[in-house]
Amino acid sequence: MLKRYKKFLEELDRELRGYFLEQNEFIKCKKGCTDCCDSGEYPFSRLEAEYLMYGFVKLPHDVKERIRKNIADLKEQKNRFTGERFLYKCPFLIDKECALYDRRGIVCRTFGLAYLMEDNTVKLPNCANLGLNYSEVYDAAKGVILLKNPIKKDLRTDVILRSKTAEKYELECGEIRPLIDWF
Ligand code: SF4
Repeated sequence: MLKRYKKFLEELDRELRGYFLEQNEFIKCKKGCTDCCDSGEYPFSRLEAEYLMYGFVKLPHDVKERIRKNIADLKEQKNRFTGERFLYKCPFLIDKECALYDRRGIVCRTFGLAYLMEDNTVKLPNCANLGLNYSEVYDAAKGVILLKNPIKKDLRTDVILRSKTAEKYELECGEIRPLIDWF
């Protein structure tokens, strides 16, 4: 299954590279920017979480320990949390880099892009509010985006995992949970 998932990711990454090129004039992503990993829920399917953790076991001991501590701290914070959506810094973000970049989830691969969702509303990256991606075409005060050629494909994880591409690789992804809930 993980071999098929790897092939699926190669195809998905090719498709996403095309979108990043297409939207290049609006993209400010650069090494060292961690906005997308600083606050979120990070929906991961069981398969994605498993794939991530196969990479985790091969990390250096000290990095593993730091990730374990991040996870333990977050679990504690989540247990005390009484709001609706628990947003957090990803525990795999170490020294401003993803410790498991090659094994990151589907949502992580789409970070930075704006696209049309199934209900025809635009899903914007968080950083549009920070003057980064798509900020030239986004009016934060009115909450309106003026984009001539939006990506007309819903890139949310659950939609991608229900797509024809995922079907082709016969993926059994299991349920989707916020990343922290897999630990
Ligand atoms: S797994 Fe990596 S890319 Fe994905 S949210 Fe965490 S640090 Fe960011």
